[in-house]
Amino acid sequence: MLKTAHASIVDAAKKQGLTDRQTKELLATNAEHKFKIELNSGKKFNAYRVQHSNKLGPYKGGIRFHQDVDLDEVRALATLMSFKTAAVGLPLGGGKGGVSVNPKELSPEELEELSRKYARHLVPHIGPSQDIPAPDVNTSADIIDWMVDEYEKATGDTSKASFTGKSIENGGSLGREAATGRGGVIVLRELLKNMGNSNERLTYAVEGFGNVGSFFATIAQAEQPGWQLVAASDSSGGVTDSQGLDASELDGYKKQGGRFSDFNAARLPANKLFEQDVDVLVLAALGDSITEKNMKLVKARLIMELANGPVNEAAYKYLTDQGVVIIPDILANAGGVVVSYLEWLQNKNEEHWPEDKINRQLEDYMVRATDQIYELSQAKKVTLKEAAFMQAVSRLTTEQ
Ligand code: NAD
Repeated sequence: MLKTAHASIVDAAKKQGLTDRQTKELLATNAEHKFKIELNSGKKFNAYRVQHSNKLGPYKGGIRFHQDVDLDEVRALATLMSFKTAAVGLPLGGGKGGVSVNPKELSPEELEELSRKYARHLVPHIGPSQDIPAPDVNTSADIIDWMVDEYEKATGDTSKASFTGKSIENGGSLGREAATGRGGVIVLRELLKNMGNSNERLTYAVEGFGNVGSFFATIAQAEQPGWQLVAASDSSGGVTDSQGLDASELDGYKKQGGRFSDFNAARLPANKLFEQDVDVLVLAALGDSITEKNMKLVKARLIMELANGPVNEAAYKYLTDQGVVIIPDILANAGGVVVSYLEWLQNKNEEHWPEDKINRQLEDYMVRATDQIYELSQAKKVTLKEAAFMQAVSRLTTEQ
């Protein structure tokens, strides 16, 4: 996944006429904070915050608690964030943080202590106009609320604009939870319109019916009656119905802790989801989901990358050669960072916006970004992914 992003940036830089030196500068990070956190129990963890670029605005990006976190991964994800915010035209930069820890092995008290110590260490380097972290893998609104509290205690800043992804009671934004899935629906609808297929009925399958996948499917069901969900999967397996699955029913089932392997519908082994004869394959689980191993089984003509890097480099090349249109992650899943930006604006202005105002602004950002990237791909005769990275390179290298 990380290699794919790096290759995309180098390729886009070349297409935009950058020299090797300029490309190197574009990839270089501004600051890398690497430190150790020691808990009262004596347990020690490596922690990181990488600030890639603040050319377009304060650094922005999540904090991940996962045993596989290391400096290389955080650096690559921070870099990708700069390209995502630039591709969709947000006045924000890119950063990422993480702790190399399996949070399932910590007690609730240890998790809070770790979160607070992480934020405390970074106080001099973050803040509403400097670097605004957010949740990522295994970091929830509760964790962010502890971090905000720690930041407030150390600085006296009560704006809550130091982090996004907070709980609603603590200055979080309405619409944030659904934003990535909702953004995905807007991008797909807008691209179909650009491609002249807006009135077409279509069938689709969702890999990964978690936060992003379930919001995508339930919002599509409510707003796009011509789109029919015919297969869905979670890590336990898949379900299918050629006459159409009810996304709300699946969502309710998952929210009650159900697993698709026990669901009362035609079952599908999770690895058969890619083979479904659908128009659109929506990938909302993990990175590297389509690779050399399964790329030849794909029948869909359109792939939505809602997860980060779900189609690896070899699969991307093969599928693109076969005429499959891949909607790239830095556009497809940018709805989350757009609403994070709106949360930050509300906090800075001491405002609380209603959900319909947030959804309207999300719509504006996603439609504009989709149209611009589509037009660039047509004008330069490149794929949507190449166009998205070229758009970002252009914003990151133009004098402000
Ligand atoms: P989540 O944990 O809520 O959901 C992930 C889902 O994928 C779960 O239902 C899980 O069972 C399923 N899954 C895992 N392995 C699978 C497999 N092999 N086959 C089928 N399903 C599998 O996570 P999420 O927040 O929905 O994030 C999903 C992806 O979107 C991640 O890659 C994340 O980095 C990316 N993303 C999320 C956001 C956001 O706002 N949450 C924003 C941008 C990108």
